[in-house]
Amino acid sequence: MTERFTASFTQQEPLPEAAVEAALRVLRHGRLHRYNTAEGEVAETARLEEEFAAFTGARYCLAVASGGYALGCALRALGIGPGDRVLTNAFTLAPVPGAIAALGAVPVFVEATEGLTIDMDDLAARAPGAKALLLSHMRGHICDMDRLMALCRALGLPVIEDCAHTMGAGWRGTPSGRHGVMGCYSTQTYKHMNSGEGGLIVSDDDALMARAILLSGSYMLYPRHRAAPPPEAFAAVKYLTPNVSGRMDNLRAAILRPQLADLPRQIARWNALYRIVEAGLAGTPGLALVERPEGEDFVASSFQFLLPGWPAGPVRAFLARAAARGVELKWFGAAEPQGFTSRHDSWRYAPPQPLPRTDRILAGLIDLRLPLTFSEDDAALLGRILREEVACVFQSGEELDEAPAAD
Ligand SMILES: *Cc1c(COP(=O)(O)O)cnc(C)c1O
Repeated sequence: MTERFTASFTQQEPLPEAAVEAALRVLRHGRLHRYNTAEGEVAETARLEEEFAAFTGARYCLAVASGGYALGCALRALGIGPGDRVLTNAFTLAPVPGAIAALGAVPVFVEATEGLTIDMDDLAARAPGAKALLLSHMRGHICDMDRLMALCRALGLPVIEDCAHTMGAGWRGTPSGRHGVMGCYSTQTYKHMNSGEGGLIVSDDDALMARAILLSGSYMLYPRHRAAPPPEAFAAVKYLTPNVSGRMDNLRAAILRPQLADLPRQIARWNALYRIVEAGLAGTPGLALVERPEGEDFVASSFQFLLPGWPAGPVRAFLARAAARGVELKWFGAAEPQGFTSRHDSWRYAPPQPLPRTDRILAGLIDLRLPLTFSEDDAALLGRILREEVACVFQSGEELDEAPAAD
């Protein structure tokens, strides 16, 4: 009998009871705005910032309206403006080039490697004239951060980290988001903590964080922040920094705090699912797993594998066969953007750039979510179904002798 997968790829877990209770407390007192506090009260948002700063080991933290807002705010704080060239990964998600373009700046895409991280030789080649690197740890794959930071220091490039997929991850013991001058996270439903929408920024830099707080729309209430630089840091910039309103509110902060406390346990669960799918797919002919480097502590809320050199026809045949068995996959090689999946040639507000290595990789890149509503048995079943369907198309495939779809 052919097995079928029935669990939903987009169903996250319900929020923990502690989050529900915290939300009710905020709803009952009604002080949802972060600066609306009773005498002596510390706002949920300010507490979340303190706790997230402690979690990452950062001196400062700012909670904002979304992950995309966090990226734009960090770029602005760094002084990026119209016409500035900002390097970023060619393999990332639309809010990353979008944050650059929203400032009138120019996204400059850097090639991806088979490990799905940034190609450092290409980075060095494209760096002249660029103002910064917005490094996206796309799908949680972390490049050799020691080598990257040494390269960026040599090139004089400040680094902002997009940690939308690496909350709680790290490189050789340093938390993701703590290598660059600022680290940006998302608490959108499909990331590692769920407040519907939301973002966090961490930094050790007094001037950058003072500007970020003012940018987020602090009016002159920044003394109510706790994970924030001292008043002197604000004095220099408070009349010069525009209010680009994008604060987080106390309701979202309240439901995030219990989730943050629980994050290490959730990370272990995600990684257990990942390792089960990985083991299920190991050694499948025609399929390449993405190697996880030894220095990387990842947080796997999704899984990627490659069908290297496969033409578009057989990839589509495989996707259709998997879908018929209930397995919803995303393909980064599709010509048209679909759902959350798009690629650099769909971002036509950026100047077109030849990215042959990235195109070749994306042509065979398959992606699936691993929500924590999946059990370990579900993960094992996913491994079996994907293995069978890859093998079926691969072995039947004279078509595979055709030229690859994109080269
Ligand atoms: C989700 C995401 C973002 C932006 O987060 P939002 O909270 O949705 O604005 C940024 N980068 C990547 C890679 C993402 O997946």
